Amino acid sequence: MAYAVTLIPGDGTGPEITEATRRVLEATGVGFDWHVHEAGQVTLEREGTILPPRVLDSIRATGVALKGPITTPIGRGLRSANVTLRKTLDLYANIRPAKSFPGLRSRYHNVDLIIIRENTEDLYAGIEFQRGTPDMDELVAWIDEHSHVKLDRDAAISIKYISVAASRRIVRFAFDYAVANKRRKVTAVHKANIMRYSDGLFLQMAQEVAREYPQIAFEDRIVDNMCMQLVQKPELYDVLVLPNLYGDILSDLSAGLIGGLGVAPGANIGERYAVFEPVHGSAPKYAGQNKVNPMAMMFSGALMLRHLGERAAAEKLEAALAATIAEGKFVTYDLKPSPDDKSAVGTSQVADAVITRLG
Ligand code: NAD
Repeated sequence: MAYAVTLIPGDGTGPEITEATRRVLEATGVGFDWHVHEAGQVTLEREGTILPPRVLDSIRATGVALKGPITTPIGRGLRSANVTLRKTLDLYANIRPAKSFPGLRSRYHNVDLIIIRENTEDLYAGIEFQRGTPDMDELVAWIDEHSHVKLDRDAAISIKYISVAASRRIVRFAFDYAVANKRRKVTAVHKANIMRYSDGLFLQMAQEVAREYPQIAFEDRIVDNMCMQLVQKPELYDVLVLPNLYGDILSDLSAGLIGGLGVAPGANIGERYAVFEPVHGSAPKYAGQNKVNPMAMMFSGALMLRHLGERAAAEKLEAALAATIAEGKFVTYDLKPSPDDKSAVGTSQVADAVITRLG
């Protein structure tokens, strides 16, 4: 059976890493019916949009997309294609695994974390009031009247919005992920000691949902303490579930623990659709040079295989990637001891090496 998958090459170095990833995915033996759709700089120049509606229509039809990075145009008033995709398709869970592999240069060697970030609310909900506007003045007056805090009108306000439904949904997602992937523990991360109502609600929902999963251990950590713990003893942690902002920050921290962007995969999951993409951006300065590391996108492809139920193929691909990293021969510049190492290979040669191992 061939899986219908929307394939979005993106722009910058996106098309090169997408092609390399498509080749290794096909070499796993799983069949794909790729629905290829351009988005990004190419469609911006041709059609005036970085995300044509047909891309969203295709994901609505296939349910699954593998996506290369898309450059966000600066100063043209355009919203990021990535944020639009997540919002429009209600991709509420952002999964970012951070796993150590022998051969990756890092200070840490036993990291195996799954960061699950709520993708739709918190300080990212877009509820903001600009300094000096009538709405801001009205809000300050309201707060003066209804709380014990006296605010300065010469300020700006962003609202932290945390709901029961979204908190329950993301924590349940984290526990379901833990069960499905044989993980042992879920840690909820918050700052409920200070933000008693918003983070307090997130924590309360996490504690309630945790009772539905007695087979998985549960604990919570205050976010500042969590940062210190991750730097000191990351091996103690397993699945972390976080509201949007803490999730954003801790997922980059965790990518740093394992050796960088070239190997950091990601997935955006909703009730109906799923979009898999590397954590890194389009690295436009290297576009067309057959230079950047395709492994973050290949690992994202492995996450997609798991999502499709192709666990054996996912494990085979991850093992081939791990062996290629460990050997250290057919890897790109970012995985070499020095970035100008002459023995570094290009994007497509990494794909060739991984395919040889899959064969
Ligand atoms: P970036 O991740 O594209 O690149 C930063 C640096 O990291 C690069 O210059 C390169 O040195 C290194 N790097 C990144 N990917 C690599 C890889 N696969 N192999 C080896 N080295 C790699 O970040 P940026 O320069 O801040 O962003 C460029 C554009 O990408 C921006 O327009 C940004 O908005 C966009 N972006 C898109 C996504 C997405 O599509 N999901 C995510 C992040 C950034």
